[in-house]
Amino acid sequence: MTSATLTIDLGAVVRNWRALDAMSEGETGAVVKANGYGLGAGQVGQALLGAGVRSFFVATAAEGTDLRTAIGHGPRIFVFSGHMDGDTHQILEGSLTPLLNSVDQMLRHVEALPGAPFGIQLDTGMNRLGMEPAEWSAVRDIAVAQRPTLIMSHLACADTPDHSMNGQQLAAFRAMTDGLDVPRSLAATGGTLLGTDYHFDMTRPGVGLYGGLPFVDAEPVVTLDLPVIQVRDVTAGETVGYANGWTAETDARIATVSGGYADGLIRAMGPRAVLFAGDVACPVVGRVSMDLITADVSALRNDPTHLQLMGRHQSVDTVADAAGTIGYEILTQLGARYARTILA
Ligand SMILES: *Cc1c(COP(=O)(O)O)cnc(C)c1O
Repeated sequence: MTSATLTIDLGAVVRNWRALDAMSEGETGAVVKANGYGLGAGQVGQALLGAGVRSFFVATAAEGTDLRTAIGHGPRIFVFSGHMDGDTHQILEGSLTPLLNSVDQMLRHVEALPGAPFGIQLDTGMNRLGMEPAEWSAVRDIAVAQRPTLIMSHLACADTPDHSMNGQQLAAFRAMTDGLDVPRSLAATGGTLLGTDYHFDMTRPGVGLYGGLPFVDAEPVVTLDLPVIQVRDVTAGETVGYANGWTAETDARIATVSGGYADGLIRAMGPRAVLFAGDVACPVVGRVSMDLITADVSALRNDPTHLQLMGRHQSVDTVADAAGTIGYEILTQLGARYARTILA
């Protein structure tokens, strides 16, 4: 049996980065956390390095260590979780730049690795990571004297351009950082699209590089083709799948494809998702099971060999919508069983 094929277009990742880079005057970094949003941090990192990216962002020191092996020395690797207990060795060995989130992390960093590079993450209202305004004013002068590489914060509502939270966080960020002689970063993909007020010295897009919303003009990066294992006729009144999830109203032809929730094709998408045979949409019928999905292919003249879940006709965000989630989650759940094809 041929396995499902996930095609990852690294050329499209590079073009998406260039398109986002062209929107701002400053540096454009790249967020490659969670294994490059599920697409492979090493290969994504290498492709973006070739395109001129000099600053990468990951979630944890362990991710930074792996990325360093893939991209070599030279580019900066920032770590959003900062300097946690037990990270010192990886930070040193991988020349990682932790984004320190608290006074505790700052003390840990300067004690364990005096003189080693660091950045600062500030909380401007999201209440997730970063120093709060009071904490920051207490240590700001000491921190700035040690010349941080970057001061950053993160927007909670940037995918909703007219949300008042954007302006509030921008004002809070300015109040905490104006006048300091340190490079600043506030915008991820959504913030980059909000306009130049949000760009500061560095933008740090993630999902837009991988073809996801809110970057509506992104080029699609992933194609997912599922091989058909079997095709059968069912007569009106017959049922398909677990719990008799679907009943044929008329005679129909049903294709069973290889791929299921164990491959990140989450069950919740079942009732609303479609698979494509060329240009023809074939509705998913019955429940998505662990390794298999069933689709109604009655509209096709010939039995298909493959059905496509993501690609030209259907984006990761359309699939996410069918499942009641976001493109980020679909991408990062893409499974380990796919044969992965990389387009340079
Ligand atoms: C994930 C993340 C990003 C990238 O966000 P996208 O919405 O994927 O562009 C940037 N900054 C921080 C702090 C993040 O956690």
